[in-house]
Amino acid sequence: MPYPFSPLTSAIKDKITAAVTPGSVITENHALKIYTGDASKLHCTPEMVICPHSVADVQRVIQLANSYNFPVTPRGAGSGLAGGCLADHAGVVLSTERLTEIPVIDPVNGIIKVQAGVISQDVKSAAEAGGLYYPPDPAGMDLSTIGGNAATDAGGPACVKYGTTRDYILGLEAVLPNGKCIATGVQTRKGVVGYDLTNLLVGSEGTLGIITSLWLRLIPKPPAIIGLMCVFSDMASAMNSVTAIMASGHLPCAIEFLDHKCISLIGEMLPFALPGTTPSILIIELDGPENQIKQELSTIEQLLQRQGAAAIIPATNQQQRQEIWNVRRQVSLRIHDYANVYIPEDVAVPISAIAQLIDALPVYEKKYSVEIFAFGHAGDGNIHLSVTAKDSDNRDNAESAVKDLLALSLKLNGTISGEHGIGLAKKRYLPMELSPTSIALQQSIKKLFDANNILNPGKVFPDQPETTTT
Ligand SMILES: Cc1cc2nc3c(=O)[nH]c(=O)nc-3n(C[C@H](O)[C@H](O)[C@H](O)COP(=O)(O)OP(=O)(O)OC[C@H]3O[C@@H](n4cnc5c(N)ncnc54)[C@H](O)[C@@H]3O)c2cc1C
Repeated sequence: MPYPFSPLTSAIKDKITAAVTPGSVITENHALKIYTGDASKLHCTPEMVICPHSVADVQRVIQLANSYNFPVTPRGAGSGLAGGCLADHAGVVLSTERLTEIPVIDPVNGIIKVQAGVISQDVKSAAEAGGLYYPPDPAGMDLSTIGGNAATDAGGPACVKYGTTRDYILGLEAVLPNGKCIATGVQTRKGVVGYDLTNLLVGSEGTLGIITSLWLRLIPKPPAIIGLMCVFSDMASAMNSVTAIMASGHLPCAIEFLDHKCISLIGEMLPFALPGTTPSILIIELDGPENQIKQELSTIEQLLQRQGAAAIIPATNQQQRQEIWNVRRQVSLRIHDYANVYIPEDVAVPISAIAQLIDALPVYEKKYSVEIFAFGHAGDGNIHLSVTAKDSDNRDNAESAVKDLLALSLKLNGTISGEHGIGLAKKRYLPMELSPTSIALQQSIKKLFDANNILNPGKVFPDQPETTTT
């Protein structure tokens, strides 16, 4: 057995219960069920769920895990799409849902300190209440926690202009797998002392430490934001528009796209007739001083018309923007519910290669009898490819389609995950992108942090004998 953990006996459960603040242990069966899944549609059942009230609670659970050899899986809101927060080896799921304080908002220095369980949208709102702006905007931000965003380095539509969660994390506090607390990074705009442990923990998917708090960098809030939705009769014109916009010297804060299969799921929400049989949609937003972005929007509209746009719907007030984003949001939800087999991939390719990737989809659909929905962040090449099959028996075929799609993305100089991470769902594909030397080095880092392998075991690295350095 690669992970010989001890089962949680009732004696060990009693010790855990006694060690944490009363009310931290979830016992009701219906409540426990929530912690068996996330948005990946994968499921694993933990033996116990703890929602610590304090960092000391987290430390005590980790200390007991080392003493009694049980695994601990950190969990934020369970909105992850890679199964990262699932208890692959049972044991304890440790949810940060009660670590929800925002102890510092400092507008003078443009920083905010938040506990890991704060919902990401609440971080944005708190920053705005302080007159500032926290740009990352993962589409699930009304569900996800800021700790989960940090652990997966979540991106979002605004990434094209503002970057990912990582770009706003100045420092963090975490409980390490040996039970010790660590504070990394700085509370200043700069800091180069020692190795960058902050950026090692960010994106480590809960395998190197349980993040308990974050120091985030805020920026001035852009004074205005406007946008549009634009429909084309084909994907090539939409993608040519994206490259043309990016080459034009304008930098929108979102360029999202939907392919014709996604459009077929939300057609009734659209305010225009659809041109052709394979239409595609772009959603574009610009932020900045009002006069400037109005001018930029008008230039971009002309550019879109030159590329053959069939209709352009402007969104110059909050309500119009909301309506457009509702369309975009509905797409992920409807694909999720569309078929029995649902594998959400999120490759990223250079924006000049998006069209080539999308063009290849019908070939894989036919080869593997699956349906592939393509949408996402065209501005940074991060394409969500949801591979679906109505028939549960077609899961193996869907997995083969996924493997081919990942291989194609790598061939196009892309990556197998732009923002969702590897978790449980994609760990078998890690060697497609990383060399044996890179995997071996990363496994050594994991061992250095977590000698007993108690923190989120079974994630990120493929289930196979450890790779030797070449
Ligand atoms: C509708 C929808 C839209 C989405 N849109 C986007 C998007 O635009 N961009 C994007 O990047 N993602 C998106 N996601 C995926 C998801 O929301 C992100 O991955 C998010 O960052 C996960 O946060 P969470 O709190 O739900 O974490 P969870 O799902 O609970 O956990 C995710 C991973 O982080 C680890 N983790 C969680 N909290 C901690 C912690 N405090 N310390 C250490 N490890 C921790 C877990 O162990 C797990 O490996 C979307 C999901 C949905 C359902």
